[in-house]
Amino acid sequence: PLPHLRRTLCDLPGYQPAEGVYGATPPRPLSANESPEAPPRQAVDAAVLAAATVHRYPDPGCTDLVAELARTYRIGPERFVAGAGSVALLQLLFQAVAGPGAEAVLATPSFELYRPLAELAGVRPVPVPLVGHIHDLAAMAERITPRTRLVVVCDPNNPTGTTVPAAQLTAFLDRVPPACLVAIDQAYAEYVRDPAAAPCLTSERPNVVVLRTFSKAYGLAGLRVGYLVGDARVVGQLRKGVLAYSVSTVAQAAAVAALREPARMHAVTDATVAERTRVGDVLLRAGWDVPPSQANFLWLWLGDDAERFGGWCAARRIAVRPFAGQGVRVTVGTPADNDDFLAAAAAWRSAPS
Ligand code: PMP
Repeated sequence: PLPHLRRTLCDLPGYQPAEGVYGATPPRPLSANESPEAPPRQAVDAAVLAAATVHRYPDPGCTDLVAELARTYRIGPERFVAGAGSVALLQLLFQAVAGPGAEAVLATPSFELYRPLAELAGVRPVPVPLVGHIHDLAAMAERITPRTRLVVVCDPNNPTGTTVPAAQLTAFLDRVPPACLVAIDQAYAEYVRDPAAAPCLTSERPNVVVLRTFSKAYGLAGLRVGYLVGDARVVGQLRKGVLAYSVSTVAQAAAVAALREPARMHAVTDATVAERTRVGDVLLRAGWDVPPSQANFLWLWLGDDAERFGGWCAARRIAVRPFAGQGVRVTVGTPADNDDFLAAAAAWRSAPS
């Protein structure tokens, strides 16, 4: 007989980010919202140099990285905590608020990992449907009860790419009780160009924390580095919960070097934003239902056809991410990747159904 494992774990559907059919690197990898560009050479060089010291444990406090973040954003270092990807910090947040009856209010569809991370931590997820592909902040506010310990706002939202206007977010935060934590997940902040949605890294509210990552705009998905910014007292508590040594020496060194190349990050994200506009315009002209995206991906609303279109792309060796019964999320990749995807999309629309 097998040992006893928690029912909650056994009942999880499991995270399946990539379609197994392609192997590790599909010909057109448009399913994981990665950067199509390799990281800056300086980050790779720093990683290689750091690799020579890996007989020692990493700096558990990520001192250099936190100092570089503090310098970059002109915020006190005591307000940052780094983790092994922003998923690790999300996991920590759910663990930090867990307790009997604890609930987390979040949007749906949104980043798929929120729900399993909540459930595994012992927090009941309270999903609130989007309206018009955007967070329904009014409905989310209404679902907050004394049991609500955490509210997650994914901005821009994965998978729809939509943002919440800054003024609406402020009005929403006014309605959240100070005892309830709000996590604003800004994994795609560097791709936002709409001034009305400009993502704010800091808040004067002690109950608001912001999460960002090196996995997207900085091209370091494979190294696993994310960070959280919040009130120094809240951050001080959260730091105690970070799994010791979880951000490797190599990852810390590469992230510091990547931060020191802001021009490169801006060039890479500008190229993605230009492609986002081009691909989005072609799809809209062809009649696809695509909400305006401020992230490095586009959301194609397909309803019951979502999985079939996902399979259609897979058959053309293009990896996209279908959400059953809803839509398909496609990452903005290189121009060649995007052209292949557009060809597949055009063929779908002209095929007899
Ligand atoms: N938040 C959102 C909204 C994401 O889409 C992702 C990555 N898909 C993450 C967090 C996790 O990123 P990381 O690689 O930093 O763990």
